[in-house]
Amino acid sequence: MGADLSHEKVQDVTSSSNASPPQSTPRVKTAASRTRPRGPAVGIDLGTTYSCVAVCQKGKVDVLANDHGNHTTPSCVAFTDKERLVGEPAELLRGLNPENTIFGAKRLIGRRYEDPSVQSDLNHWPFRVAAGGGGEAKVHVSHRGLEKSFYPEEISAMVLSKLKQVAEAHLGRPVTQAVITVPAYFNDAQRQATIDAGAIAGLKVLRLINEPTAAAIAYGLNDSRQWKEKRNILVFDLGGGTFDVSVLTAQDGVFEVVATAGDTHLGGEDFDQRLVDQLTQEFKRKHKEDLSQCNKAKQRLKVACEKAKRVLSSNITAIVSVDSLYKGVDFHTTITRASFEDLCSDLFQSTMLYVERALEEAGIKKTQIDDVVLVGGSTRIPMIQRLLSQFFDGQDLCRVINPDEAVAHGAAIQAAILTGHRYQSLQNLLLLDVTPVSLGLETVGGVMDVVVKRNSPIPTKETRNFSTTEDNQNSLFLQVYEGERTLTKHNRLLGTVTLGGLQPAPRCVPVIVVTFHIDHNNILTVTATERCTGNQNQLTITDTRGRLDREEMERIIREEEEYWAQEKAEQEKNEALNSLEASTLQLKRVAVEEKALDDRAKRRVLEMCEETAAWMEGNRRAPKKEYEERKRELEDVCYSIITHFSSDGGDLSQMKGRGKC
Ligand code: AMP
Repeated sequence: MGADLSHEKVQDVTSSSNASPPQSTPRVKTAASRTRPRGPAVGIDLGTTYSCVAVCQKGKVDVLANDHGNHTTPSCVAFTDKERLVGEPAELLRGLNPENTIFGAKRLIGRRYEDPSVQSDLNHWPFRVAAGGGGEAKVHVSHRGLEKSFYPEEISAMVLSKLKQVAEAHLGRPVTQAVITVPAYFNDAQRQATIDAGAIAGLKVLRLINEPTAAAIAYGLNDSRQWKEKRNILVFDLGGGTFDVSVLTAQDGVFEVVATAGDTHLGGEDFDQRLVDQLTQEFKRKHKEDLSQCNKAKQRLKVACEKAKRVLSSNITAIVSVDSLYKGVDFHTTITRASFEDLCSDLFQSTMLYVERALEEAGIKKTQIDDVVLVGGSTRIPMIQRLLSQFFDGQDLCRVINPDEAVAHGAAIQAAILTGHRYQSLQNLLLLDVTPVSLGLETVGGVMDVVVKRNSPIPTKETRNFSTTEDNQNSLFLQVYEGERTLTKHNRLLGTVTLGGLQPAPRCVPVIVVTFHIDHNNILTVTATERCTGNQNQLTITDTRGRLDREEMERIIREEEEYWAQEKAEQEKNEALNSLEASTLQLKRVAVEEKALDDRAKRRVLEMCEETAAWMEGNRRAPKKEYEERKRELEDVCYSIITHFSSDGGDLSQMKGRGKC
């Protein structure tokens, strides 16, 4: 049975309403003082191509370097016969083991397999993606000799685990809480899946914040001006896979996002792909060979193109050189900045349309924008900077913040606030976020009735009264949609709420109250309540959006923990092997160099070292205990030989210097 909206808007009565002016409602602080979880909390920019972790301590933000010394870590996971690799080592395998090296999981997260965006990505990915039991997109790999499938949130969790380790190594204690950033256009399912990814990685997600918003927080703090006057900021965030434009206002340390626009499917990877396509054609022309069906060659070419693209941001030309690219043929060519710009010109130009759209939606003229903030690695491209500067009539662009780190930087500040830190520099910081898409209900004739308008500040609660369409109608069926079109058939169905057992009532009399509640993480709960009885039914959109169920989550978390336990055991075993090897080499050196040692003793020590070396050679995968026992035996025997057969009683200073080897 259908439902009819009475179009009577009931006033929001919740304390989390956005009706009051922001200055009088310090939302971030209120939330922080209410929950105030303990321990260090980090800010994580979980990017499509690269991710970044930062921590804010004593009012100062540190962007943390990983074990390779890099501040950003590739969001890439590789599966091999022996191990699982995350970050830089995984990225190196993109060319060598393309079918089992997963990147861009953020493009899949929270999406269904039939999603046109997933379908279009499939053409460019060397790894296999298939539909899971519930129609969700899953990646398939071969790992340790087994065929395995993973949800995208599992892959993201592996990246998050890596960043968690980076933070723990830096802080010297466990890290269990994080603020994670997501593109402004992420819908509810994508946000939920990101929270799940955090949980799998052992991180409580304190808050999801939009990437441009995080950048604005970082920018606000980095700016020496005090924001006494209201300023309009435009954040232009062009990363590896997503593009967001946000218009924000800032005053007295208060940020408000007034409009967002963007494309979840535009970024550096698209520019790389254009280069790959062009060079694949060039290879065909020059060498009469088509490499387009060879994943390995395509990936190796892509890695080379990405490097060349970066070079072109500072140089006029760049060389692409790949030895034995395909069928043993080497490929060397030179690209000019002009040809690269020509190749991607339409993509670059298209970003300006989104700038226009965001300004239009914010009701702000371009001349009213005080600051244009660049975020994301792709904003280093000179043509992008040129177009943007021209669009704003030659205005200087703000590059104070490192574009790769700004988002994690802002997330770290938000994490510090949420964990109750009260640094001078963080005082008065308040943040309002907005919902990226309109939410509403289907009414008679398939018309979308918008309950929460796109760009409404969140958290928010909106309530509508409903009436039945027939006399004595005993149930009501509500369909919840997201989207901007007038007819629901063009929008996206999020789920349904049915309220049964209604008391008899004439039609057109409002009997049901429907509440849309969007929390800090932009997650929607719809509640339908019968006025006279208080009967209620609720839909948290997660329930119907293919989010992992509890059992599945528990299984994945268990597997993830087992994996890290295995990895830890493997690392300890390697350390024990390394220690035995070091001890053997050290004893060998002592035997050779110790002049006071008689020849027989020397021979015996060397023999024992050789024996141990041979044993190690044949036992590379022995348990840690065996290496430790072997080391103890070797050291005990050699130590006593050296002590007894040395004319000076054995000068073991070299050994002792290493803690008895
Ligand atoms: P992000 O998602 O912000 O980490 O941005 C990653 C994207 O920025 C990748 O596509 C990189 O290839 C791209 N990128 C990084 N540095 C440069 C550069 N100097 N010139 C052009 N693109 C870059």
